[in-house]
Amino acid sequence: MQLPREVLIGRNVAPLVGQTLVRLGFHGPVLMITGEKVNAIAGGVVLDSLKGANFRTETLIVQSSTTEQVEEAERRIRQVAPDIVVGVGGGKDIDVAKLGSMKAGKGFVSVPTAASHDGIASPLVSMKGLDRPYSYVAHAPIAIVADTSIIMKSPYQLIASGCGDVVAKYTAVRDWKLAHRIKNEYYGDYAAELALMSSRVVIKNAASIRTVTDSGVRTLVEALISCGVSMSIAGTSRPCSGAEHLFSHSLTMLAPKPALHGEQCGVGTIMCAYLHGANWQLIRDFLQRIGGPTTAIELGVDSDLVVKALTTAHSIRPERYTILGESGLTQEAAAKVATITGVIE
Ligand SMILES: [Zn+2]
Repeated sequence: MQLPREVLIGRNVAPLVGQTLVRLGFHGPVLMITGEKVNAIAGGVVLDSLKGANFRTETLIVQSSTTEQVEEAERRIRQVAPDIVVGVGGGKDIDVAKLGSMKAGKGFVSVPTAASHDGIASPLVSMKGLDRPYSYVAHAPIAIVADTSIIMKSPYQLIASGCGDVVAKYTAVRDWKLAHRIKNEYYGDYAAELALMSSRVVIKNAASIRTVTDSGVRTLVEALISCGVSMSIAGTSRPCSGAEHLFSHSLTMLAPKPALHGEQCGVGTIMCAYLHGANWQLIRDFLQRIGGPTTAIELGVDSDLVVKALTTAHSIRPERYTILGESGLTQEAAAKVATITGVIE
């Protein structure tokens, strides 16, 4: 089980990256991996902090989360031979830092600049151009430094997306339990409860998240980190990723312009909660309160594609048993669940 050793969450903690690394016993060079836009917002602060703590630094700017980019990151890590890699940014920058550092046999620190999904703290990565569209296990960050003053300035859509990814645990855990009963798959109560608690806490704090208050954003970031920890404890993405995620992955492959991961997962959770006979209205109402999408129109995707994604989701990852069963939903059943839950008209 890999867990982060230090987690800093709060306003203006980004300048503390340097001293955190000193405290953790690192002293050699540091390679910072970040994106172009993010570098302008947060890269400078982190770099100054590292220099202030007398670290020799190198920077790699990444464009996307492709396998080529990861290979480049791995090459650069081997060349610089840093003591530690620091990933600064949203999903792709962290993912490249996470996978690149693992391949090169180095640890990494996560400095998320957005709260759009649980990859900021999880041991999992999702890459473009791999043989599978879903995430797989890499390694967990050694430390997480989540500066809420930076995260609060990110577009609100990213925060709403993060809420969708957290509320997804409502059905992910139900799918995991189901797979335990039907397939005798390993099920860990503690990891499951931790993931479920994150979704409960985020639902409870909808109002303060919607108004982007300090405590609201902090709650969301803590929830996303707890989700990451639940996956580390489980050793699998099971507590955080069920049929609603398969639906999202399927939609990403089908739609010409997919919505954000967490947005799609949120809508998937509404429909999968219905399939589980659970309180799907609770999920829909929460997403509406948060200002996240709850319909195909709001996702910006065609109704037909939502139905198609529902009918094909089970085939994305056949070994992952969910409420979709082994043969998936029929066209009629898929159209029905999407209509009853108001996702399509
Ligand atoms: Zn997710």
